[in-house]
Amino acid sequence: MLDTGKLSWKPGQPVPYSHLATMFEKVEKESKRLEIISLVTDCLRSVIETTPEDLLFCVYLCVNKLAPAHEGVELGIGDMILKKALAEATGRQVKDIQSDYDKVGDLGTVAMKSRSTQRVMFAAKSLTVQTLHKSLLQIAKMTGKDSGTLKKDKIKSLLVAAKGIETQFIVRHLQGKMRIGLAEQTVLVALAHSIALSVPQGTKPNKQILEKVSCPCFLNQLIDSLQAAETLREVYSQLPCYDKIVPVLLKEPINNLPLNCYLQPGIPVHPMLAHPTKGVSEVLDRFADQTFTCEYKYDGERGQIHMTPDGTVRIFSRNSEDNTSKYPDLIALMPKVIKEQTKSFILDAEVVAYDRETKKILPFQVLSTRKRKDANEDTITVQVCLFAFDILYYNGDPLIKRSFHERRELLKSTFTEVEGSFAFAKSRDASDTEEILAFLNDAVADSCEGLMVKTLFGDSSTYEPAQRSHKWLKVKKDYIDGMTDSLDLVPIGAFFGKGKRTGVYGAFLLACYNEETEDFEAICKIGTGISDTQLKEFYDAFEPIIISEPKSYYQYDDSPGLLPNVWFEPKIVWEVAAADLSISPKHKAAIGLVDESRGIALRFPRLVRVRDDKGPEQATSSTQVAAMYRNQAVIGQ
Ligand code: ATP
Repeated sequence: MLDTGKLSWKPGQPVPYSHLATMFEKVEKESKRLEIISLVTDCLRSVIETTPEDLLFCVYLCVNKLAPAHEGVELGIGDMILKKALAEATGRQVKDIQSDYDKVGDLGTVAMKSRSTQRVMFAAKSLTVQTLHKSLLQIAKMTGKDSGTLKKDKIKSLLVAAKGIETQFIVRHLQGKMRIGLAEQTVLVALAHSIALSVPQGTKPNKQILEKVSCPCFLNQLIDSLQAAETLREVYSQLPCYDKIVPVLLKEPINNLPLNCYLQPGIPVHPMLAHPTKGVSEVLDRFADQTFTCEYKYDGERGQIHMTPDGTVRIFSRNSEDNTSKYPDLIALMPKVIKEQTKSFILDAEVVAYDRETKKILPFQVLSTRKRKDANEDTITVQVCLFAFDILYYNGDPLIKRSFHERRELLKSTFTEVEGSFAFAKSRDASDTEEILAFLNDAVADSCEGLMVKTLFGDSSTYEPAQRSHKWLKVKKDYIDGMTDSLDLVPIGAFFGKGKRTGVYGAFLLACYNEETEDFEAICKIGTGISDTQLKEFYDAFEPIIISEPKSYYQYDDSPGLLPNVWFEPKIVWEVAAADLSISPKHKAAIGLVDESRGIALRFPRLVRVRDDKGPEQATSSTQVAAMYRNQAVIGQ
């Protein structure tokens, strides 16, 4: 058992935020993942063994979230509001704070220094994890015309109450980025370890736990903890909702978690993703001893459709955003495609723009002109067809452990096609090169991006939430044309246009996302593939997210041709195609992963589309960039 006597609070009392802040400070200085896991595990363990009801708030603060993703509650307060709140909380001038910020590059550090130089007349009440979580939630939910002032006042009161290092991390919570190298996957592992090793207060430790805690054999504990971590990771990918998982973790042995927490209609599952291939020959190599099927890869937007037993239907994006109000036409369609006995389901599908007169699929660009929220069914001009390709849950039964063959049968027997509105993904159980190539050509002729090739039978064809799985391979027509897979990148800055592009931005600096460090790393400058109309649109669209200086978590080269004239908040995601990837002395993408001191750059990048369905943290990661570089047929230097 942990020695809880050394803690700054008594069992049953609220956990002070300082307990987390102290751990964050240690994590920030630590680079070894195992050490980080151990720091977080100890921190959470002491909460479980004293005040377990605060564990949920601690987990949310560790992953820097306030609620499950589909509730759409996000922080990411602009620097200006933070600087003003800090000025009021400390009696300093905004311009002095700005000048420190210019020197230090991190508003959290400036805030902490500003607080420590301030004379405190009376000690404010300590912040607890629960009160901080509640306040952050209130701030994130403030809307309306006075919300700027209300947010500033609330932030000010938090900064006044914060002590020492707490100030720095509160500012970072508010900015929406902790930048201490604590990824959510690491928190999940630590949470599992802490549960596996803890004896919660007030509970009579069961024999199993006692054996674990007093077990002289460290290896047994380790194996239990590793299994616990794997169990939790899998459960979280099916039910990404700490509100549901944490109470069960505290009540039941972790081995029972999958019995209590699994797919649930109404909570978006992290979607299964596909592995890119270089072409049909790679598919045949990888699936040499498997039976597989090829499906059209439709070029639209992923739609995960949920129906709960009360008959409510909701549509979630790839990114777990609630898109229900974008597609009232699809909601109205559902009663026509389900069989009478259907009570609940989770369907995986692609929403595609569709011309019902010509019976043709329309390009993604047409779909992107649809109103994003609160669409009115009567005024919809862009019609859509839903192409269903999987079913994950039906009438109380999770189906993801069943073979794809079984799921596909069930999908087809429980839903009905409606011409021009609802269809099953077109498929062919092809098995040789000629057949696959012929089907690929059909797919391209039918305005699809290529093929998805999926294993059909046994364990190797189950649905794997959140995994970029080798059970699904994507073959895009672009790969056949010798291009790499496209990347999803974040515009972090722009360059003023010249000549024909005077008055708008002529080029943009794009970055990939490093999941470990939470940095955005520049990968290329792009000016190709953007029409004059788009340039004008982008000039206006980027205006609200211009920032006066680059974020401290932007990694870029500051040589003249590569230093943007304006910087942006990391908000937008663009899909970009390129001829290939090369090692770059300038760009910082995936630096240290392929080459110790040089990054990776895209050669001949061209904009494919704006990705409204991805947030900046879902942009192509530095690890993926490194993998794409290594996978190239010919590696250019
Ligand atoms: P990823 O989702 O793999 O990160 P991405 O978002 O850039 O990459 P793509 O590489 O274009 O997407 O391919 C995967 C997407 O293809 C799926 O998320 C889904 O929206 C879409 N898709 C279209 N047709 C199918 C299909 N038949 N089966 C599965 N997915 C399909």
